Amino acid sequence: MTVNLLDFDALALERYFASIGEKPFRARQVLRWIHQRGAGAFETMTDIARELRAKLAVSACIAPPVIVGDETAADGTRKWLVKVDGANSVETVFIPEGGRGTLCVSSQAGCTLDCAFCATGKQGFNRNLTTAEIIGQLWMARNALNATAPRAALQRSSPVTNVGMKGLGEPLLTLANVIPALKLMLDDNAWGLSRRRVTVSTSGVIPGMDRLRDECPVALALSLHAPNDELRNQLVPVNRKYPIRELVKACNRYLEKAPRDFVTMEYVMLEGVNDRDEHARELVELATRVRSKFNLIPFNPIPQAQFRRSGPERIRAFGGILRRAGLTVTTRKTRGDGIAAACGQLAGDVRDRTRRSGRVTTLTEISA
Ligand code: SAH
Ligand code: SF4
Repeated sequence: MTVNLLDFDALALERYFASIGEKPFRARQVLRWIHQRGAGAFETMTDIARELRAKLAVSACIAPPVIVGDETAADGTRKWLVKVDGANSVETVFIPEGGRGTLCVSSQAGCTLDCAFCATGKQGFNRNLTTAEIIGQLWMARNALNATAPRAALQRSSPVTNVGMKGLGEPLLTLANVIPALKLMLDDNAWGLSRRRVTVSTSGVIPGMDRLRDECPVALALSLHAPNDELRNQLVPVNRKYPIRELVKACNRYLEKAPRDFVTMEYVMLEGVNDRDEHARELVELATRVRSKFNLIPFNPIPQAQFRRSGPERIRAFGGILRRAGLTVTTRKTRGDGIAAACGQLAGDVRDRTRRSGRVTTLTEISA
């Protein structure tokens, strides 16, 4: 069987090269061809000896996930559906904004955690993505963007300047595959992104936060969505296992090694559910215990849940309470309208193995 070189971070690639009797610097050369130049075949690697290219062609391959859908919204947001196997496809989204280009990357086919408002959670879970399938989303996106970019833009290195592990899945439940992918994003011989430009978003899986801190600290976003356990237990069920007071401690441990001195608290604005003044005041209290910035996300409607998006006035008033307490607050612009590419609308095509898909969350369930 051939090995997929997209599965290897720098160290693993060096080990593989050693196993076929090749020097580490050759591994670094090939790493640059794959990740910096988007090479998909060994014969294009012109400064690699012909014999080595022939050897690699027999024992290895560069196999990214296959694009089966490609849509662009009016605002320039582009969404790909990528097929990872016969039963599953996941989504990757590119969001251009000024000089930045943020790629929203998936980590699992589906998600086991079943947050009340999330399309991914509602469709169930099939499996973790491999390292090749995770880093392959960057590879695929860069090559697809360059293929359609004007010539001038091609002079710049990569249109992907920032990465968020915010697509399908919970990245901290598949760290064995996510960490090598993150290392490739940071490696100067691969993607060369700074730790501050790579964000892992989590619903709050504490053992994963501690492991990420020790092995590959990057910027952290916590999907908080509620200021107290009673409400968070309903909206983000994993809170029953990892409650807010423990999360606060884990965030503070994380910040000891994080590239930024705050955690971004993601907060989806659900009308009448978590958007009242008293909730904002509880958040102000919570922010005294951990350095936080708040990102208010207008809820993106999904067919499987009966929530409504808080109105712009309510979001402004809610943000106002946080700001007056001295906190930094951003309100996320909704991007990718019309192609269901906004946060939480990503679903892909996942063969559910949890028998959860089809279930609808009702408002009475939450308020009960
Ligand atoms: N599992 C991880 C990362 C993927 S979800 C996590 O939960 O953080 C990416 C972000 O989208 C999270 O902040 C999530 O809470 C948010 N989200 C999910 N469903 C949403 C919806 N319908 N509208 C707006 N944001 C949503
Ligand atoms: Fe999973 Fe994140 Fe969606 Fe929750 S919000 S179901 S953790 S993908």
